[in-house]
Amino acid sequence: TWGTVRNELQKTVGQSNFTNWIEPLEFSSLKDGIAVFAVPTSFMGNWVSRNFGDQIKHLLNEAGAAVSRLEFAVASKSVARPASKAQKAAQHAPAVEPTADISVPGAPLDSRFTFESFVVGKPNELAHAAAKRVAEGGPVSFNPLFLYGGVGLGKTHLMHAIAHELRRDRPELNVVYLSAEQFMYRFVQALRERKMMDFKELFRSVDVLMVDDVQFIAGKDSTQEEFFHTFNALVDQNKQIIISADRAPGEIKDLEDRIKSRLQCGLVVDLHPTDYELRLGILQQKVEHYRKQYSGLVLTDGVLEFLAHRISTNVRVLEGALTRLFAFASLVGREITLELAQDCLADILRASDRKITIEEIQRRVSEHYNIRLSEMIGPRRVRIIARPRQVAMFLAKQLTSRSLPEIGRRFGGRDHTTVMHGVKRIEELKQLDSQMAEDLELLRRSLEA
Ligand code: ADP
Ligand code: MG
Repeated sequence: TWGTVRNELQKTVGQSNFTNWIEPLEFSSLKDGIAVFAVPTSFMGNWVSRNFGDQIKHLLNEAGAAVSRLEFAVASKSVARPASKAQKAAQHAPAVEPTADISVPGAPLDSRFTFESFVVGKPNELAHAAAKRVAEGGPVSFNPLFLYGGVGLGKTHLMHAIAHELRRDRPELNVVYLSAEQFMYRFVQALRERKMMDFKELFRSVDVLMVDDVQFIAGKDSTQEEFFHTFNALVDQNKQIIISADRAPGEIKDLEDRIKSRLQCGLVVDLHPTDYELRLGILQQKVEHYRKQYSGLVLTDGVLEFLAHRISTNVRVLEGALTRLFAFASLVGREITLELAQDCLADILRASDRKITIEEIQRRVSEHYNIRLSEMIGPRRVRIIARPRQVAMFLAKQLTSRSLPEIGRRFGGRDHTTVMHGVKRIEELKQLDSQMAEDLELLRRSLEA
């Protein structure tokens, strides 16, 4: 029954919730309507109970088990867990020490988020290098390391990768990863249970502290205060701190100035929106991975390129698209062609397109080449006008889902063959002329940003 419920949960709670919270649950017994689960830490038990309790109960009942209450019992290392699971947990989860009330305050790590699986490209090379440096230890070179960037660009992935590497290479270090939300939750819990001293001790015994999505504690005064103290205590002891946020320290609203300036005094690096090459690299890596699982996979040339062009900068969306495509293809037993991708991903493609409009492309391109916007749709055919116009057509074809006739219409009612010719010409120039390649890259980046 639990197996079925787990599968059901995997579909509904999202993959990262599933990996972090549901997977580590160990079903131990059901008696008198009480379902007991073994969990590695009490923190985790509380969290699961609060956030997923009702859902789990509901699903268990639906699956035929009469459950009126859930209980989460902290399992010490020696408690019977299947060997493989226990090993896995020991590797990836925070130490499963049988502690008293307040347990080691880390969140589970996603075992897939390693340096090996992180594809490096221009937009993330700095962040990657900085993360790698921290993971390699040595004398503390920048503290804190502050990683920031938009959703789905790899902040959490990099932080987990650092934690994995440190736990593997320097197991003596107490490495703690948690989201700012979890930090706050624990703080509130300690307050409520009058365990502030324990809370402080606990965090101050950490060697490497990683707090993900720190923008979350902005505006939450007492949590901020405690975070600041913890932070200072660790920095004073030369302990490494790694922070992530969705924006630069100075731009986080409702964050106290002294915290902002503390956050800025280490190394601040950002993850830029992915570019085409990086997206393609990530897709290729994923495909490699799938190939190992499904030998019968057939993928037509050009599909990955199409996805890399057309799907937004958020890697999570990109991954989701690929997963869906593969699931669909294997379900209907078809090869993955461009048409299949267009059909099966229509909604994602549409959503990704919303961002870049032809008007925007025309505006940026005319600014870039210093011509008037009206020339884009005007009749002039001299090269200094016609070339930028072709560049804009090329980008419109590449970055939007508009058809050639539609693009033609937006460029002063030109014929679709004119657009096609323009696109081809730019494609050729891109190969021959490095200045052109650079211009295109720049424009694409600024449009996608
Ligand atoms: P963030 O924390 O910045 O919102 P995540 O780290 O959760 O983003 O990344 C979202 C998804 O994209 C994850 O599944 C992650 O593995 C994947 N991902 C992001 N960047 C890369 C990359 N450079 N190489 C491989 N996978 C990546
Ligand atoms: Mg994240």
